[in-house]
Amino acid sequence: MEATDCDVLVIGGGPGGSSAAAFARLKGLSVCLVEKDTFPRFHIGESLLPMGNSVLQASGAWPKVEAAGFVRKLGAEFMLADGSEAKEIVFAEGYVPGLKSTFQVERARFDAILLDHAGSLGADVRTGVTVRAVAPERDFVAATLSRADGETSTLRARWVVDAGGRDNLLDRPEKKPCDPAPFPKRAAVYSHFEGVRRAPGGKGGNIVIVRLLDGWFWLIPISAERTSVGLVTSIGALRAGDDPESVFRSTVAGSARLSELMGQSRPVAPFRVTADYSYVRSRFASPRIILAGDAAVFYDPIFSSGVYVSTYWAQLAVGAIARAHAAGRPLSGREQAGYTRRLKRHCSVFRRLIEVFYDNHSFAVFMTQKPPLDLNRGIISIVAGHARLTWPLWWRFRVFLAVCRLQRSFPIVKRIDHSARVSLKTA
Ligand SMILES: Cc1cc2nc3c(=O)[nH]c(=O)nc-3n(C[C@H](O)[C@H](O)[C@H](O)COP(=O)(O)OP(=O)(O)OC[C@H]3O[C@@H](n4cnc5c(N)ncnc54)[C@H](O)[C@@H]3O)c2cc1C
Repeated sequence: MEATDCDVLVIGGGPGGSSAAAFARLKGLSVCLVEKDTFPRFHIGESLLPMGNSVLQASGAWPKVEAAGFVRKLGAEFMLADGSEAKEIVFAEGYVPGLKSTFQVERARFDAILLDHAGSLGADVRTGVTVRAVAPERDFVAATLSRADGETSTLRARWVVDAGGRDNLLDRPEKKPCDPAPFPKRAAVYSHFEGVRRAPGGKGGNIVIVRLLDGWFWLIPISAERTSVGLVTSIGALRAGDDPESVFRSTVAGSARLSELMGQSRPVAPFRVTADYSYVRSRFASPRIILAGDAAVFYDPIFSSGVYVSTYWAQLAVGAIARAHAAGRPLSGREQAGYTRRLKRHCSVFRRLIEVFYDNHSFAVFMTQKPPLDLNRGIISIVAGHARLTWPLWWRFRVFLAVCRLQRSFPIVKRIDHSARVSLKTA
């Protein structure tokens, strides 16, 4: 076998990339992580899921995250924009023990902690460097790297973990094919605010989701003063307004609940827009390249699954690579297909939950305070990120989805009166 510069090249220093680098180091592999930005840098995706805690524990980053003083998240509050209905999800009431809380994080700090952790385990971390191309050979992959000053170099690695996220600059032919988009094109407009009202006590750390007729808001407390607030709606609805910020502001003004929460607030960061973010790549692995996190798939932000999924998949990706590395061979066709299948199955649970949220009939079932058969406890665990459906969760989720389907024809639970609901103000 020809010599390489490192065993694993990790593309991207987001949660997926940093976790991949940490897991690879823990397996004794030599790692080079290449990140195009210099840290700390802004990133959206600030609400974590309890299920992700164990992945951070396994990578060794958890004590550093715990020590960082992030806002503790005990659950979520879903409410209608006219204030007529609300449902609280308390993670501690879920069926699966050990998923009681996690954190809301300012991603600039969180991502820097994970990246530093990878470095502390011995990964060669290079920021301000972009991977421009990768050329797989039989025994290694040759990557072209470029620095901001234009200097280019080549790095040879036995394996590549592509954790370059949604805005990945790396354009590879195998990343082009995508499965049919599971959702309509949506967009988010968001900023950070000070002065947003919070519930007293521990509940003040919860994510608040405010559902409109044609979209929703998130309110995520990311520090004692700062709250991340974002509006998600269809691209068409956003385009119909004057500009995204005006649509955001007028929609807040048109909602009794949002006005109450946001009335005394002011933005402390620029408004940003992210659009058309839903996709699933057809294949997540080739013989020496493996995708993790947003580089492979991103559906929708509603259930805050992105960071957990990217770190967990990084762990699985490194597991697959380490096995093949020890055997001195590339990933077999079976391993590549198995990795893709397993991850698609995992994220299909989140996809179904997302469908429930956007479907008005199913959403009425979701908002029911006390559904029968202890269904709620199962749903809480899934909302906490437990998408590996063990039997007690599996059957509860099946029954829940069946009730959602039935609700379209028969009102099993009280229907939500959509005529009174707040919709986007785009005039
Ligand atoms: C509107 C919105 C709201 C969201 N809210 C949440 C939320 O509340 N909770 C949650 O968990 N998730 C949320 N997400 C999803 C979350 O942002 C992502 O799922 C998560 O950041 C994925 O992590 P990652 O490591 O895969 O990718 P990223 O975090 O995007 O990291 C990828 C990194 O790779 C670098 N990179 C890209 N290309 C190259 C290259 N060629 N060379 C070198 N470096 C490169 C980038 O600079 C970046 O730092 C949200 C997403 C959106 C769109």
